Amino acid sequence: MTTSEPVADRPPSVDALARRLQGLPHPLLVDAARQAIADGRPDSAQAVADSRRRRLLSPVINATGVLLHTNLGRAPVAHRQPAAAQTVEFDLESGERGSRQAAVGGLFARLCATESAMVVNNNAGAVLLVLAALANGRSVAVSRGESVEIGGGFRVPDVLEQSGARLVDVGTTNRTRLGDYQHAAERHPDLALLLKVHPSNFRVEGFTETVGVAELATIGPPVVVDLGGGLLDSRCPWLPDGPPRWLADEPAAVQTVAAGADIVTFSGDKLLGGPQAGIIAGRADLVERCARHPLARALRPGGLVLGALQDLALTYLRRDGRAIPFWRMATTPVADLEARAAALATADHLVPTATDAVPGAGAAPGATIPSFGLAIDGDHLVSLRAADRPVIARIHEGRTVLDLRAVDPHHDPAVTAALTSIAR
Ligand SMILES: *Cc1c(COP(=O)(O)O)cnc(C)c1O
Repeated sequence: MTTSEPVADRPPSVDALARRLQGLPHPLLVDAARQAIADGRPDSAQAVADSRRRRLLSPVINATGVLLHTNLGRAPVAHRQPAAAQTVEFDLESGERGSRQAAVGGLFARLCATESAMVVNNNAGAVLLVLAALANGRSVAVSRGESVEIGGGFRVPDVLEQSGARLVDVGTTNRTRLGDYQHAAERHPDLALLLKVHPSNFRVEGFTETVGVAELATIGPPVVVDLGGGLLDSRCPWLPDGPPRWLADEPAAVQTVAAGADIVTFSGDKLLGGPQAGIIAGRADLVERCARHPLARALRPGGLVLGALQDLALTYLRRDGRAIPFWRMATTPVADLEARAAALATADHLVPTATDAVPGAGAAPGATIPSFGLAIDGDHLVSLRAADRPVIARIHEGRTVLDLRAVDPHHDPAVTAALTSIAR
């Protein structure tokens, strides 16, 4: 294999060719040159290098209309911090080792109105840790209607099994009543938790019945609610106009805790609008058991994520939703999007169009957010992705649709640049 040849044996022509290429560190340009020569097309070397560069993580413009697109990194976040030592596990007051969870956990406890909170790498990890720490070797009751797959392989029964807890199915797929849980508690004296999972990526409609948190709290064992989405408070005090209509059915941390949940878990990068993380908030004794479990060490976040989450938590406490990119895009008035679409429609084939955006990432399933964008006859997804700043759009009824709700207005010139490739 040519790629494993020692550098010294490299034919000079590969090196000479690589030196004429640009856009990547030299060793990667050498790989591209070698590939082009092996293909018998040395003149394609720059194209090979370009295509390899485009396989690296790249900033793109999300014109899909899916605000929290898991393939595009969910919530957009900007975070900078100095290259400096940080009090990640250091208590400035005492000068001694401190808790990694104290600072940011404290802020999230304040935001969720709980005694305590901690942070792990994602919500799947949060659920796993809660179950392992609080229910290992014991039973956990879950409604059959909530024993779901959230996507990306996160299946409630599998996570339960991995945690060492035993799943006790309760009720039926479409209807679960309080009596079903009471019955489970009677049959399983080792019942450690009642787990409620927000079915965040689908809706069961019709003849359905579920048991609310307040009722579950009357049974006895601690109630754990996997909220998924990370909406902190259904009143959205960080938004000047209060909660948007499409959020109506989304459960929120503050209200779920007020209803009697002992623990809630949620993602950092969905409706919370932050970096990938999982938050565990609730009763101090239960959070403490999670923090002491060996898995907590394996799931602990680094200083970058903690720094970004701290900024975000302080922004929420300042009630400054405008400073959170996700909430900015989610609450932009449709009229603003319509005006931008009109400005971008510089040619006849670019047609301003009303669209429906969606929250995405399993938040507020079924809800749509009125939006606006551009439609172009035919499928132009490939050309749009080939732009310097790639634009990710979608096809709807034979037309290419660019939805502007998740597009930062600062990126409109880049959208224009991508659109010129279609005009040509
Ligand atoms: C998204 C989601 C998860 C997984 O969260 P990640 O942060 O992606 O690990 C778990 N449970 C629910 C209900 C979810 O919506």
